[in-house]
Amino acid sequence: MENITRDGFSASELFQAGFGLAYNDFIILPGYIDFLPEDVTLETRLTRNIRLKNPIVSSPMDTVTEAKMAISLALLGGIGIIHYNNTIAEQAEQVREVKRYENGFITHPMVLSPEHTIADVDEIKRKYNFSGIPITENGQLRSKLVGIVTNRDIDFEKDRSRKLSEVMTKNVLTAPQGISLSDANKILRASKKGKLPIVDDAGNLVALMSRNDLLKNKEYPFSSKDARKQLRVGAAISTREESKERLAELAKVGVDVIVVDSAQGNSIYQIEMIRYIKQHHPEIEVIGGNVVTEEQCAKLIEAGADALRIGMGPGSICTTQTTMACGRSQATAVYRCAKYAWQFDVPVIADGGIANIGHIAKALAIGASAPMMGSMFAGTQEAPGDYFYENGVRLKRYRGMASLEAMEKGGGKRYFTEESKVKVAQGVSGSVVDKGSVFDYVPYLIQGLKHAFQDLGKRNVAELHNALYSGELRFEGRSMSAQIEGGVHDMYSYKAPKYM
Ligand code: GDP
Ligand code: 5GP
Repeated sequence: MENITRDGFSASELFQAGFGLAYNDFIILPGYIDFLPEDVTLETRLTRNIRLKNPIVSSPMDTVTEAKMAISLALLGGIGIIHYNNTIAEQAEQVREVKRYENGFITHPMVLSPEHTIADVDEIKRKYNFSGIPITENGQLRSKLVGIVTNRDIDFEKDRSRKLSEVMTKNVLTAPQGISLSDANKILRASKKGKLPIVDDAGNLVALMSRNDLLKNKEYPFSSKDARKQLRVGAAISTREESKERLAELAKVGVDVIVVDSAQGNSIYQIEMIRYIKQHHPEIEVIGGNVVTEEQCAKLIEAGADALRIGMGPGSICTTQTTMACGRSQATAVYRCAKYAWQFDVPVIADGGIANIGHIAKALAIGASAPMMGSMFAGTQEAPGDYFYENGVRLKRYRGMASLEAMEKGGGKRYFTEESKVKVAQGVSGSVVDKGSVFDYVPYLIQGLKHAFQDLGKRNVAELHNALYSGELRFEGRSMSAQIEGGVHDMYSYKAPKYM
């Protein structure tokens, strides 16, 4: 190995240049491989005291993270942050749903009443793709169970306007509330039924089990759980005074981590809010942000933040840099802030602008402990909202929380715009393509990341960060033509993989 000068550049040399870099502007040079992708562990820190088995965090946006996304990502070893473009009661209910989640039980099943018609079942089937519907007296959960409708009851029925009371199966096999997952599984297996409604002492429906879920029940060894074995979940709040009430309700339902959400986090409002949370709810971890400079980081670390969220303007739906002339190129922001916060042992989250596995790997390689993604998850089944078609493509809505559309619903809190008569948008609304389920997508991302770590010759995040700061990890800028060369090119046509 003599006579070989060190190839490439250290991160501190790369980011010296005086102009900002995005993830695509650089590449990481390969390391030495003496292990398999399976030997890579991606465990990382979200905050000072919360560890995740997988570096996956979803954005607090109303087209990205509600309970379903948060439950799914927590099962997969990541975490979701519930948005706050809703009432306090609604947000608290979302958090409660995650904390109460029991693997295998559908705790909020679709329910209809005997007065509904077969056409209503058809509509649910078309929208959500399931047809086993419990029927209760008033058509709501926690009302008396009076029957169940499954495909077998309605398959051959020509008249779709018939009432469910006429076609439902009335003698329903049920199990009592509090039954263990394994006992409920036994009943389902023995009875050969497709659905098992769970009822309380008074016969009110409280949950549902599905036979098709039986096999899936034990599949999540990496799930993110607290000491009481409940799934972990985060929630965002604004820096406004009313958020204290929100915070109190979120604390009551057991939220693990609060994201203090502002587009420019270096404000007296944010600093006071972080101090307030740490003083009144020391058991809750606090993520401060968003910040992009060392000075901003310093203020929030001093205020007591347990992690920092980095990013101002790189988001896919974002117009901040164009409109406000303020922000920072994301790779530079992540590197600078991570390096600064590292001295205080405060993890940073790279938020926005992440569009593929390579970006996640790069964010981690320049110091982030976790990536936060909006657009990558907005098109999944677990994101809020229904699919629709445009030009034959299956899509879901995705919008910035500072888009005019979201602000109309109350989302301007992050941008200090609530009181303004004239609202200046800092985001757009639009759509993203169908990504399928996160239960397929996230394992793909994780496996891809393990390959990336292998190519870098690093077995875990700690090794990667040590190599970053020792200068062992080598980087190089990419010219515009290098970037073109690094993508698919000179093809007449090709089939892109489902995920990137
Ligand atoms: P069905 O027989 O047509 O209801 O469909 P399956 O039982 O094959 O699949 C339903 C899937 O959707 C299962 O994985 C359920 O856990 C899931 N699911 C989620 N929410 C609901 C719900 O409200 N009702 C039903 N029936 N299934 C749900
Ligand atoms: P993405 O993953 O789609 O690139 O970016 C998601 C991130 O963009 C969010 O986590 C949040 O930090 C940021 N964001 C969400 N809505 C808006 C908006 O309307 N304007 C701006 N400037 N940023 C937004």
